[in-house]
Amino acid sequence: MKIFDTHTHLNDEAFAGQTQQYIDNAKELDVDEMAIIGSNEAFNIEAIRLAQNYQPLHAVIGWHPEFAKEYNEEQLVNQIKLPEVVGIGEIGLDYHWEEDPEPKIQQKVLIQQLDVAQQYNMPVSIHCRDAFDDMYQILKNHDMSKSGIIMHSFNGDVEWLNKFLDLGLWISYSGVVSFKNAPEVHESAKNTPLDRLLVETDAPYLTPEPYRGRPNQPAYTRYVVDAIAKYKGITPNEVAEHTFNNAHQVYNL
Ligand SMILES: [Zn+2]
Repeated sequence: MKIFDTHTHLNDEAFAGQTQQYIDNAKELDVDEMAIIGSNEAFNIEAIRLAQNYQPLHAVIGWHPEFAKEYNEEQLVNQIKLPEVVGIGEIGLDYHWEEDPEPKIQQKVLIQQLDVAQQYNMPVSIHCRDAFDDMYQILKNHDMSKSGIIMHSFNGDVEWLNKFLDLGLWISYSGVVSFKNAPEVHESAKNTPLDRLLVETDAPYLTPEPYRGRPNQPAYTRYVVDAIAKYKGITPNEVAEHTFNNAHQVYNL
């Protein structure tokens, strides 16, 4: 079995100096490849450094909505030309924490990065929290059919799933799909077609069962695969194979 963690933060301080150890842990659970996701200048630089130094890692760089005010388009355009950079992210909208920076600024910086992605045919990894309505409108107005959009850690219900599938999105599930108290997400996973499905950890956040409450790591993508297999009524092997191939397709590997 081969598993691709499409969204993880080995560039986070939680993993500092232990990159090879976490790659080895992942390999033991058949997690063979990962996309390291940036969110501001420092995390982007570290994602690129890791991808340049460790073979199974790729870099995805961008400005998370929390860091929207620091957005540097010139830097983004220069860095996405590096061979290790396979996408732009995580970018998006997050209205959860007191709406700071304000939604107007978040939206502007999201749209600027979508424009870059469109121009350079790069896929994007979307972070969307408490903002499905605005996100849907923005994505609807962007033709990203040539580049690809990943909805990272999708936690919506089947109605939102279908709306985003209609826009051609890839749907990526994190450990949340393994939580017992997330019946809507179980239902969405069950209804996500195998050819639009992706898996991720978002480590060090969102640790799946059976390790919920402890620090997360890329190896645990395996438990996300297991949970989805359970809800879809298929084998973990099938989930791994489709999501691995889908990850290669969306990141152009
Ligand atoms: Zn993330």
